[in-house]
Amino acid sequence: METIESTSKTQPIALVTGANKGLGQQVVKELVAHGYLVLLGSRNFDNGKKAAEEIGDGANPIQLDVTDAQSIHRAVERITAEFGRLDLLVNNAAIAQSGDYSSVAEVLEASKASVASLDEIRTIFETNVLGVLAVTQAMLPLIRLSDSGRILNVSSALGSLTLNSDVSFPYRTFFGATYSASKTALNAMTLALAIELEETGIKVRAASPSFTATAMNDFQGTDSVEVGVKALVLAALDTDSSTGSFTGPDGSLPW
Ligand code: NAP
Repeated sequence: METIESTSKTQPIALVTGANKGLGQQVVKELVAHGYLVLLGSRNFDNGKKAAEEIGDGANPIQLDVTDAQSIHRAVERITAEFGRLDLLVNNAAIAQSGDYSSVAEVLEASKASVASLDEIRTIFETNVLGVLAVTQAMLPLIRLSDSGRILNVSSALGSLTLNSDVSFPYRTFFGATYSASKTALNAMTLALAIELEETGIKVRAASPSFTATAMNDFQGTDSVEVGVKALVLAALDTDSSTGSFTGPDGSLPW
């Protein structure tokens, strides 16, 4: 009988963080359809188990809170023991706010640089920036053992300094000191790692989905997860183009 371990010698292995719902769960679904064995990361294991069961064979739940060093350590130990390498890491987990808000409009108002809570900025950066770096640093030894190592950071066009400097960019009034600035910082981390790993062949990318209806925006996004995920899947599966890319639904995005 073929075990997970024996199958994985030939099958690409991916880890997706924050994959119990929304775009992360859809990324897992698409990677499984592309023949990957995917570790579906979820800070609440039961939510991840349920999400993996909805997808079926190929999706395997793993407890992973990106702000918890012990949780990250346990995930590394499990992946090391079961697979001995990691081909693709998708850093998808993120939060848009940490306050007690009753609407997206309130979240946007509270994100303004003149009033944003420093505690809320710290909490958001802890997940969206430092959490990504912590998982990446911990998984990197396993990614270095892959023949086609890739790291995809799920970012947002809202984090682009170039776009937000352009007065014709329709979303620039959303550019605040909390979520969008965290994606700007994530972009900086992405580029820093891409430059550092250039000689290794590991591809480090950032990609933005389209505006997708998920819990993060109270389901106000205009696209379904099936549509929104497309740019993420393209970037995740891209083993060929130059490292250090930032792409969205219409191709290249400026940093
Ligand atoms: P979502 O449905 O709210 O999903 C976010 C996921 O991140 C959830 O699974 C959540 O887990 C998880 N998460 C939060 N904190 C975590 C932590 N400390 N450790 C592990 N997992 C954690 O939002 P989404 O729209 O699918 O977002 C996915 C990614 O796309 C994010 O990086 C987001 O910034 C990006 N993005 C989304 C849009 C959009 O239009 N939706 C646009 C641009 C970029 P829980 O269920 O436990 O909370």
